[in-house]
Amino acid sequence: MDQSFAAIRRGGMAIAWSPCKPAPTDMNPTALHVVINDTTLRDGEQTAGVAFTAHEKLAIARALDAAGVPEMEVGIPAMGEAEVQAIRDIAALGLQARLMVWARMCEDDLRAALRCDADVVHLSIAASDIQIERKLGRSRAWVLERTRAMVSRARDAGVQVSVGLEDASRADDGFVARLAQAAQAAGACRVRYADTLGLLDPFGTRERIAALRRAVDIDIEIHTHDDLGLATANALAALLAGATHVNTTVNGLGERAGNAPLEEVVMGLRHLYGAATGVDPRSLPAISALVARAANRPVAINKSIVGEGVFTHESGIHVDGLLKDRRTYQGFDPGELGREPRLVLGKHSGSHAVRHAYAALGLVVDEALAAGLLQRIREHVCRHKAPPTDAELRRFHLEACEPLPAC
Ligand code: MN
Repeated sequence: MDQSFAAIRRGGMAIAWSPCKPAPTDMNPTALHVVINDTTLRDGEQTAGVAFTAHEKLAIARALDAAGVPEMEVGIPAMGEAEVQAIRDIAALGLQARLMVWARMCEDDLRAALRCDADVVHLSIAASDIQIERKLGRSRAWVLERTRAMVSRARDAGVQVSVGLEDASRADDGFVARLAQAAQAAGACRVRYADTLGLLDPFGTRERIAALRRAVDIDIEIHTHDDLGLATANALAALLAGATHVNTTVNGLGERAGNAPLEEVVMGLRHLYGAATGVDPRSLPAISALVARAANRPVAINKSIVGEGVFTHESGIHVDGLLKDRRTYQGFDPGELGREPRLVLGKHSGSHAVRHAYAALGLVVDEALAAGLLQRIREHVCRHKAPPTDAELRRFHLEACEPLPAC
């Protein structure tokens, strides 16, 4: 059965979790200023097999905006008329959030991007030698010249320009700095450092972003991937090193293993560094469900922050502690997300939880009876792979109190 902690709250226990720590950054030890740029509608939709309808794109954009996401990357205009129209429809909503569109560093893509009424045009170009030489068949000099020319052209068209340094994590660090400086000199307001293949760790990320921070004065956006399960850690490391913007996706959707999840970045910044993002944590579960549905990608039960099971407790030691004081086994209040903790009975339950559960059903259970009931509950969950329902708990109680006569 499920149990809330309502009984404990009714008991008047005041719950106060530990205050958040201050945010130490390399650039400013007293403040961490972070702008989230959510790319669920661009990199998120690039997940193999995922495709949003125009209606779904509008609904997701509205939800992210209502949650307080300050910036979102909403699509790839070069994909064609339908995508351009979908982006224009989002722009026509008049959202608070600034809108960015993604384009390759070329004329045709820029032309399509300029039709979308977005606030920022993101022009992406390969930074690593393997991509420059093997994908583009070009040289570093060509990349620098193309960047200067295209950024100038976009600036002349009157838009703000962000330059994407694709595969930066595998690129020569000196070349990354020169490319970023060329972007700045040509009028870009931001460079995006892309760990395109998700190959960095937080320590390397911090060093590289600190070096980039020393090389340019414009905004730096960190774009991470979760191929090694480090997307959120790397994103946070980059912010500590001086990145100003961070790409996220709802539920960590995105190419291959996905991007840094919005919900993890928001809650990580909040709890590790006391940094506000403007995003209301209470909106995260509903946005997660909306995107999971539209993407046809169910959220894993143990997914951090938004997974169904991440505030559910069973083991005897933990439940015993939680029933005495929730702070013993909860690092933050699930109420911040508008969520409720749950207790379930199972193989690892202890007698305290059993007696608590039966008390909630109005049944008094002593220690000896609890031990017998616990045995029944363990047999049940081993057989059914699910916690017992209230009706099943009542049946166990009835059987334990009035054993059937032996035949
Ligand atoms: Mn990406």
